[in-house]
This record gives sequence, structure tokens and C-alpha cells, in this order.
Amino acid sequence: MKTITSPAKMASVSEALRASGKKIGFVPTMGALHEGHLALVKEAGKHADTVVVSIFVNPIQFGPKEDLKKYPRNLKKDSALLKKLGTDILFYPSAKDIYPEGFNSFVEVKGITDKLCGASRPGHFIGVATVVSKFFNIVKPRFAVFGLKDFQQQAVIRRMVKDLNMDVEIKTIPVFREKDGLAMSSRNAYLSKEERKAALVLSRSLAVARELVRKGTRKRSAVLGAVKRTILSEKTASIDYISISDPETFAEKPVIKGPTLIALAVFIGKTRLIDNTVVNGG
Ligand code: AMP
Repeated sequence: MKTITSPAKMASVSEALRASGKKIGFVPTMGALHEGHLALVKEAGKHADTVVVSIFVNPIQFGPKEDLKKYPRNLKKDSALLKKLGTDILFYPSAKDIYPEGFNSFVEVKGITDKLCGASRPGHFIGVATVVSKFFNIVKPRFAVFGLKDFQQQAVIRRMVKDLNMDVEIKTIPVFREKDGLAMSSRNAYLSKEERKAALVLSRSLAVARELVRKGTRKRSAVLGAVKRTILSEKTASIDYISISDPETFAEKPVIKGPTLIALAVFIGKTRLIDNTVVNGG
């Protein structure tokens, strides 16, 4: 595995790969890799000649009061994991190289970013869309793989790629979970033992919702109420949002009809976790 830190070097290596007909598959991450990330890399490996994984804790997607400083970083361990998987290139640029002095251009996807995580984290998706555009320009992938754990993120990226005629195919993989149901996340590392147990309330409340829908409940208020009650049964849990919405527009749905996204952001203590499921109301 080659590790490249310079964006210019990465761009020229990618240029040469493309010129020689190689299909580049790209997996952008913020590191502190877990099995969910590795599933993305494996998916990329199935379809690419060359797999490029980036590790970059993108400062501009964090709010001023968020966890940029304490976000887990473990390059050595991440490198070893990626090497073991047969990753071809690790792209590991510095924030200075990505946002040099004078940097002043941003990519904004409107509309769908006003809702869910976009409403709770103003500016977050501008940071995401900007860095992903930059990385697409540098890495020049034929396709990129994103996880459905960040459901809104992949929708924002798809919108951006379509609207801006970017020549990149977007692939996704399902939410990768721990055995007990907790969605894998680098932020799970913040949880104490007690909080780790309490965090199961996210997947549990989604299971309650799925079961209600399976048994025929279609009323938003009934599902919302059940999810809310389940979450609040944990005393360390507080709700950022619960959304029952259209998986493409994120417009809230009064009735669960057709494919419907049930998405949550919940604080367990001070740690904000997200999870989601798509149900079909028929
Ligand atoms: P992050 O490092 O958290 O920015 O995530 C990098 C990529 O991994 C994003 O496309 C995420 O959606 C994806 N990802 C993170 N956790 C999971 C998971 N538990 N299941 C599936 N994809 C994930």
C-alpha cells in the first residue's frame, strides 16, 4: 500500500492510473476505522482496479462547538487495517494542504440540507460537499462508496454529483452494526461502558418502528410516539431529532406510505449518535 500525503502527487498518480485504463474506486473516511469502513473498502475492491481510501478529519464540516479536536485519530492502526485488506493507496493529506491560505470556495447543496442533520448542524453539509468535491477532483475516481449509516450524506453527494455533472458513480452499502445492533461509528469510542449499553436504544427504537409498520401501523404519530417513548426510557438519552420522511426529499410524511426513512439523532450523554432504517409502507 502506498501512502500519499500531497494532493498534487495524488492527482498525478490518479491521472496516470486513468490514462492506463485503470478503474479507480474511492472510499472517503475520517479514519478511526471500524468494520463498517472496512466493508466500504471491500465493496470498492469488488469493482475497482485500484482502491484509494482517504483519511481526513475535515475541519470545515465540524461546528464550533463540535468534537473536531477530540475526534479519534489512529493512523498506525488504520494503515495496518487498510494494508491487510489490500488497499492500493491511502491518501492522507493535511488540513493545510486541503485548505491552504486564501481558500474561499464552497459547494452548497440546497433544500435537502435544511433538514435532519443539516438542521441540527448548520454548515455541516457545505463542509462535506466541499471536501468530497475536492477529493473527487484530486482522486478522479470512476466510483466512490458511501455508507447508508449517514443516509442524508449519501443523498447530498448524489444530488451534488447529478447537479454538477460530476463523472463519478455513487455506490452505497447498508448500515454495518455490532452484533447487538449498535450502528458502528468512530464516535462510539466516546461512550463509557454504561453509555455503550444505553446507546442500544437507537437501534432498539428503530426495531420497534419497523415492527409497528410490519404489523400495519401507518400513522406517523403512532410510530413517532413509540420511537420517542423507547428512546426516552433511557435516562442518559436525549433526542436531537426523529424524522419519518421521504428518503429522497426528506419531507416529513404524515402517513407511512411507500419507502419511508426513519432517521434518528440522539445524544447519549454528550455523544451524538445517528441511526436509520428504511421501511416500506406499501
Ligand atoms: P466517517 O469516517 O464517519 O466519515 O465515515 C466514512 C464513510 O463510512 C461514510 O460513507 C460513512 O457513511 C461510512 N460508515 C461509517 N460507519 C458506517 C457503518 N456503521 N455502516 C456503513 N457505513 C458506515
